[in-house]
Parts: sequence; structure tokens; C-alpha cells
Amino acid sequence: MRYVMVIDTKRCVGCMDCVVACKTENNVPEGYNRDWITEEVRGKNPTLQMEIRSERCNHCDRPPCVYCCPTGASHIHEGGVVLVTHEKCIGCKACIAACPYDARFVHPEGYIDKCTFCIHRVEQGLKPACVSVCPTHCMHFGDLEDPQSEVARLLSSRAHHSLLPQTGCQPHVFYLT
Ligand code: SF4
Ligand code: SF4
Ligand code: SF4
Repeated sequence: MRYVMVIDTKRCVGCMDCVVACKTENNVPEGYNRDWITEEVRGKNPTLQMEIRSERCNHCDRPPCVYCCPTGASHIHEGGVVLVTHEKCIGCKACIAACPYDARFVHPEGYIDKCTFCIHRVEQGLKPACVSVCPTHCMHFGDLEDPQSEVARLLSSRAHHSLLPQTGCQPHVFYLT
């Protein structure tokens, strides 16, 4: 089992429904976000291209945030999902410094917070909140190790990229182009 998220940048309109859904589902406090929208312009006039992306923790295969955590609070859960055990977190922020994606923040209650791939929903057979509300259905979630899964079929049939592959973190959120 290897959970991944696959996001179609050709369909994302940047409406931020995913951001709102995440805040509601996960009680993310005012002023903080587990996911966000990035608009990237590439190329030169007159052939400019814009990619709109919904970004979050990449649930990396080689997560520096886990490797540097002195208490084991940051850990790899089943399916490759990177989680933080709140009770074990001492708020040292080593993981925030280590993450090249700026995916973590200090929750007002003192622990480190970030995207969980909505594992509490996934383990009940539901989709992550952000995926379930997307009005253009540009977000997909599933098991990359199942060749019949939607995510596996999309990644084998469509061009895609991940963010900052040069970091060596092996991010597992993929963007269809
Ligand atoms: Fe850790 Fe950052 Fe990778 Fe998420 S994106 S697993 S917080 S290094
Ligand atoms: Fe681990 Fe918490 Fe320190 Fe992050 S802030 S490295 S999760 S103890
Ligand atoms: Fe938020 Fe869940 Fe989506 Fe992660 S998977 S960005 S926690 S709604």
C-alpha cells in the first residue's frame, strides 16, 4: 500500500474549495493552512503558461522531517503517510526547518501540524476532504501499488511532475500536466 495524491493542473481553477474543506474538516485554526494554492507562470511572452496547483505536505518517501525529529513524534504511518503524534511533539521545530516544502506550522496548542492525507477519513473508506469537494474533480487519491487504481492509471498514462524532486525527498503528491 502506498497512498498518493494526483492532481490535474489542467482542471484546477484555483477556487480554494480544497483549502476551505480542509480547514473545516480538520479544525485548522484561523490564520493557518494545511493546503494552499500556488499559481506559477512559466515561459516568455507570447507563450506564457500558468499552472495552478493545490499544494500540501508531499508525504515524502524519504522525509527529512521524520529523520530529524528527536522524539519520534514525526513518523511514517501505514501507506507512507507522514504524521505527527501530538502528544510526543515538544515543539522544537526541527521538522519545520528540515521540510523543503514549508508544509508544517506550529499549531497554537504547541504541537506541529500539517496535512495528514485525512487518514482518519481514508481509514473509514472515505476520500480526503479536499479531494471530495473539488468541483472540477481534479484531485485523485489512492494506492499507487494497486495497478488498477485511478491514481496508478493516471500516472501511467499522463505526463506529470512532483515538486522539488532535486531535494531527494521523493515527494508523493503528483501533478498531471
Ligand atoms: Fe515532511 Fe515536508 Fe515531505 Fe511533508 S513535504 S513529508 S513535512 S519533508
Ligand atoms: Fe518532532 Fe515536534 Fe520537534 Fe517536529 S517539533 S521535530 S514533530 S518534536
Ligand atoms: Fe487537508 Fe486532508 Fe486535504 Fe491534507 S488530505 S490537505 S489534511 S483535506
